[in-house]
Amino acid sequence: MAVDKIWVVAESTEGKAVTSTLENLTGVRTLATTVEVVTWGDASAFAAELGDHGAAKVFSAGDLNGALPGVPMAAAIAALAEAEGAPAAIVLAQTYDGRDIGGRLSARLDAPVLTNLVGLTEDGGSLVAHLSIFGGTELVTARFTSDKPGIFLVRPKTFVAEGGAGAAGEVVAVEVPDTGARNGAKVVERHVEERTGPKLDEAAVVVSGGRGLGGADKYQLIEELARLLHGAPGASRAIVDAGWVPYAYQVGQTGKTVKPTVYIACGISGATQHMVGMKGAKHIIAINKDQEAPIFSIADLGIVGDALKVLPKLIEAIKAKS
Ligand code: FAD
Repeated sequence: MAVDKIWVVAESTEGKAVTSTLENLTGVRTLATTVEVVTWGDASAFAAELGDHGAAKVFSAGDLNGALPGVPMAAAIAALAEAEGAPAAIVLAQTYDGRDIGGRLSARLDAPVLTNLVGLTEDGGSLVAHLSIFGGTELVTARFTSDKPGIFLVRPKTFVAEGGAGAAGEVVAVEVPDTGARNGAKVVERHVEERTGPKLDEAAVVVSGGRGLGGADKYQLIEELARLLHGAPGASRAIVDAGWVPYAYQVGQTGKTVKPTVYIACGISGATQHMVGMKGAKHIIAINKDQEAPIFSIADLGIVGDALKVLPKLIEAIKAKS
C-alpha cells in the first residue's frame, strides 16, 4: 500500500540533475502512487533524466536570477502545496541547498522535518524514516503522526540511482511568490573544485589518509595511489582540521558519504564519525599500525603495518604492473 504522493526537490548543475536527486527519485518511486519533482533552473534540459528516474511531472520555478535557492524555493513549494494540495511527503537530499530549503519549508508549512536519513520505506500506507544518530552509532526508525506533509532530508548514497522508470517528466512552470528583502543574497561567483580524477563521492576507488600519515607532505602518497588506481583521494577530519588537505576531501558524518567499490583507509583509526561516511563501500582495505584500531572491525582486508612503508611498496608494485 503506497502513499499517495511524494515530491522530490531536485538540484541540478550544468544542465544535469545531481546524483543525489536521481538517487532519491529512484528510492521513493516505489513508495508512492505519484512521484513529482519541484526544481529550479533550466528544467527542460534535465526533465527527461528526472522522468527516467521516476518523476511523472516536473514543477520548475525557472531561473532564480542568481538567488540562493533556500528562500525562493521554500516559498514556491509552499505556494504549490497550497495550489495543488500538499503531498504526503517532501524529500530533499541532505546537501547545503537541501538543508536550507527543508528548514525554511518546515517553518512555512508548519510541518515537521526528519534529517540524516539513511533509509526511507513504506509501511501500512505511511513512510518510515531510518535515521542514523549519535555519530552513526545508533539507527532508529521514526514516522510522523501528524497530517502535515512530512519533510525528509536523505543522506547522499542512501539509494542507488537507476533509470528506466519510463515516467513522463512533463515540465510545469510554477511562480515564486514575492519574498521581499529576505531574498537579497545573490550568488556572485562560482568556483569549480579543482581535480584531475573522478569526484570523491562518485569514484569507484577512494584512497583516504588520516593522522597516521604523520605529516601533510606524506599525503602525496595517497594522491599518487589514488591516481594510479583511477580513484579519488579522501581524508579523515583530523587531517582536514590540521590543514593538510581541503575540506572537500573529508569523508564522514560532517564530510562526504562515499560508496566506492574499493575504499582504502591509510592511517585512519576508524572513529564512528568517519566510518558512517564510508562503511557502505563494497570492499574496505585498512592499513594501520595498531592491530586494535576500530577500522579493522569493518575491513575486508587489514594490513597491520606502517602506512609510510606499505604505501610506497604498493605504488611501486602497481607501477611495475602497468
Ligand atoms: P586518529 O584517530 O588520530 O587515528 C590515527 C590512526 O593512525 C591511529 O589508528 C594510529 O594507530 C594510526 N597510525 C599512526 N601512525 C601510523 C602509521 N605510520 N601507519 C599506519 N597507521 C598509523 N572524522 C572524520 O573522519 N570525518 C567526519 O566527517 C567527522 N565528523 C565528526 C563530527 C563530529 C561531531 C565529531 C565530534 C567528530 C568528527 N570526526 C570526523 C572526527 C573523528 O571523531 C576522529 O577524530 C577522526 O576521524 C580521527 O581521524 P584519524 O583517524 O585520521 O586520526
